[in-house]
Amino acid sequence: MLKRKDYHYLYDITHRVTPLAEDCGTLCGRACCQPGRDSDLGIYLFPGEETMFTRRESWLTWEEQNPAEQLFPASWPDPVYFVRCTGTCPRDKRPLACRLFPLVPHLQKDGSMLLIYETMHLPYTCPLITRQIKLQQQFVSTVKKVWKLLLQDPCIRDLIVDDSRYREENNLPIQAVEG
Ligand code: SF4
Ligand code: SF4
Repeated sequence: MLKRKDYHYLYDITHRVTPLAEDCGTLCGRACCQPGRDSDLGIYLFPGEETMFTRRESWLTWEEQNPAEQLFPASWPDPVYFVRCTGTCPRDKRPLACRLFPLVPHLQKDGSMLLIYETMHLPYTCPLITRQIKLQQQFVSTVKKVWKLLLQDPCIRDLIVDDSRYREENNLPIQAVEG
């Protein structure tokens, strides 16, 4: 499992890179940061990422969940941490998933990685995905670097393998993103 020092490094290299040179939140009213009608939207932390937080952050609420019940691979540690934010956060503290969106890795059967747009059903529309807006090269290359490190964690790799096979079996779009 990745350690706090690994997450420190990943937070550091993603701190200032953004998908577009301008604030993409102006395209959609910051759709991916809205807590949802019933304040039910949130994200999962990666295993070990919880060490980056005090759990006293006023902008986050925490839920410990059973990984098997949430259909994570059997290798995932129990519990998994699901966090919900208030819709604003100190930028340097935001979870890693927020920093990588809207790109995800796709692991091909030969083990090679493609970086693609998120294919999971989302409860909002991200114009970066729907309009396939060209992303900054620095963002794409940084996200790729982050995923190469994350994939060294066997739990995370198991999840990405499962997601990749699901994508293929369901004919979801797999198109490498260029920066
Ligand atoms: S939904 Fe997409 S375009 Fe809107 S703020 Fe989030 S990443 Fe940017
Ligand atoms: S933690 Fe910050 S970046 Fe992530 S969804 Fe909430 S407001 Fe947006």
